Amino acid sequence: MKCKSCGEKATVYMRQHHKLALCKEHFLEWLPEQTERFIKKYRMFGRDDNILVAVSGGKDSLSLWDILHRLGYKADGLYIGLGIDEGISYSDESHRLAEKFASERGLKLHVVDIQKTYGHTIPVIAEKTHRGFSRPCSVCGVTKRHEMNRIARDMGYSVLATGHNLDDEAATLFGNTLSWSKDFLPRQSPVLPESDGLARKVKPLCRFYEKEMTAYALLRGIEYIYEECPFSVGSTSIYYKELLNQLESERPGAKLIFYTKFLEAKDAGLFAPPEQIRAELFPCPTCGQPTSAEGQCSFCRMMEKVDERTSG
Ligand code: SF4
Ligand code: ZN
Ligand code: ZN
Repeated sequence: MKCKSCGEKATVYMRQHHKLALCKEHFLEWLPEQTERFIKKYRMFGRDDNILVAVSGGKDSLSLWDILHRLGYKADGLYIGLGIDEGISYSDESHRLAEKFASERGLKLHVVDIQKTYGHTIPVIAEKTHRGFSRPCSVCGVTKRHEMNRIARDMGYSVLATGHNLDDEAATLFGNTLSWSKDFLPRQSPVLPESDGLARKVKPLCRFYEKEMTAYALLRGIEYIYEECPFSVGSTSIYYKELLNQLESERPGAKLIFYTKFLEAKDAGLFAPPEQIRAELFPCPTCGQPTSAEGQCSFCRMMEKVDERTSG
């Protein structure tokens, strides 16, 4: 197989992208060029925006940071220490790799340690609120969202970027479609516009297959944490990813079509425009972040419960 650009031996073969084959050098150029195309296509941000990249220490978020840096965008990182240390020291190791990545490139990384800031790790908060059940993911999600918004607001970032890839987005879309979620389907998008004190949220990698991101990280020599969070084992989203992989192996490109045709249908008016769907937001009396119901936001409510259970 030969590289489409230079005719040298190809390193990466993408059956799903019209059988595109590229050598290492041209693949490492192609991926950021495509990212730039999607940033423009979905009007994600410009060169003047201050971007905060949520960095987990995994391949997607570190690659995203690397790509934005290479493309000349102003992008700092945010690492959130969750205190997840079940079996492997997942949080310590991912923190170390995020720091290493930033210091080697002279990039700025903000670090929030949930235990230092709020007194408890994510698994402990989950246990105390009984929202844990078998895994603390809902507590973790609420906390990460809250902290990303908080740091973006306090540090003056207008855009929050996450490393969700096509496999993530297709699995989420699949789940939302199985239940025809009228709350989540209209909101699933490469860009969620800013609103009442919430930064714009963007997913510049949403059209790249997971295996493309793995190839990018490996070929760029990015050191990332190979292990997934131990709580992700057996999750519904992993199950959906496996189902979609089966489909993809029979029909290359199926995932990309599933996702991009959904975006096109949305653009063509499948749902009412986001302005009409968006609920009225009220500031949380405790933290000031916008919330859809009057009263405390779900993070502050959760933390109040934890405090009650800790002191009582
Ligand atoms: Fe948090 Fe781990 Fe669950 Fe992801 S899998 S939401 S990192 S607890
Ligand atoms: Zn080439
Ligand atoms: Zn709040």
